[in-house]
Amino acid sequence: MVTSRTSSIGGFKDTRPRRLVLRELQKSKRAVEPTELHRRLRGQVDPVTVYRVLRAFEERGLVHRHPSSGGFALCTMPDTSGHHGFLSCRKCGRVQEFVDKNLCKQEDRIAESSGFTSESHVTDIIGVCQSCR
Ligand SMILES: [Zn+2]
Ligand SMILES: [Zn+2]
Repeated sequence: MVTSRTSSIGGFKDTRPRRLVLRELQKSKRAVEPTELHRRLRGQVDPVTVYRVLRAFEERGLVHRHPSSGGFALCTMPDTSGHHGFLSCRKCGRVQEFVDKNLCKQEDRIAESSGFTSESHVTDIIGVCQSCR
């Protein structure tokens, strides 16, 4: 859970690479790939660290790796629990997030009926957003 945004990032120590990566993600309107993020940071953070920071952010639910693009973006609803699904616009690249508890239950049911133990869900709906239509 994200409790404080001033003294720490998502409850862990605020280090320079984390701050730089976070700032770059805040500037971006779309999901960014780690290599692109590294390029934008102009060598201030090495690629391995960029990746490690992104993973740490992802584990804390601060950022998501978007399944369809492979890019990372800040979570737009960090205070909402449950699995965050995505509506990805293939025209402008904008990603809208949603939460649907019934969808989650349905996905768990599908897994269960195949004797599969569900650990995580990824829902990415690809199409055209309202402003691109
Ligand atoms: Zn989210
Ligand atoms: Zn769009």
